[in-house]
Amino acid sequence: MLVSEVMLQQTQVSRVVPAYRSFLARYPTLRALARAPLGEVLRAWSGLGYNRRARDLWRSARLHPRSLPRDVAHLDALPGIGAYTAGAVACFAYGARVPFADTNIRRVLGRVLLGRVASDREARDLDAALLQRRNADRWHHALMDLGATICVSRSPRCTACPVATICRARAAGGAIPRATMRPQRAFATSDRRRRGRIIAALANAPAGLTVRTLARRIDRRAVDLVAKLEHEGLLEVRSGRARLPE
Ligand code: SF4
Repeated sequence: MLVSEVMLQQTQVSRVVPAYRSFLARYPTLRALARAPLGEVLRAWSGLGYNRRARDLWRSARLHPRSLPRDVAHLDALPGIGAYTAGAVACFAYGARVPFADTNIRRVLGRVLLGRVASDREARDLDAALLQRRNADRWHHALMDLGATICVSRSPRCTACPVATICRARAAGGAIPRATMRPQRAFATSDRRRRGRIIAALANAPAGLTVRTLARRIDRRAVDLVAKLEHEGLLEVRSGRARLPE
């Protein structure tokens, strides 16, 4: 459950499904993941991007090799885990009646009850109030499915919507406010790609590559990014040669 939630944080479902299967086949238990060297885990993760997620999962497995904590507060304290993932894991894996909100839940609850997309805080408060008398697992799955298939961001299918009669956004005349998404800054996107390329190159080079080689293959920015990745524990540099951690 935690693996799928973490993989889905920034990657499309179609890419996650095969990666999820092969990752779980390789690391079927927390203990198996905890025993593996980080470099091997990063190789298994390679291609999904945002490699810090793999490092954080591995760290969580090392902290809790027998079983993950079950309550939201302790889940929230795991490396790289935020309020949404902690709530989703507590709810879907352990059946806890806890409020949480992802993008779909914010959009559905917000449009139906406020006439606009809700903020994180608003959505969690609305969810907490409505959750009291409901099966938390089915309730959250229903909201997420509605947001993913009918109450979509750009052109919601209001005529097919089961809650259209009580929806404030719909009652307002179909003027559906769009979810505001901040465009990613170009250099941030490029750096993310460069980071992915560095890890992918090292995943295919068991003996590592010199920083100069990486800079030649990618560009000069790779030099700074190697230093950052080393600081984050995602690679090691010795005598000018970078390699995935052992
Ligand atoms: S009626 Fe339209 S805006 Fe309201 S929840 Fe349904 S799909 Fe979304």
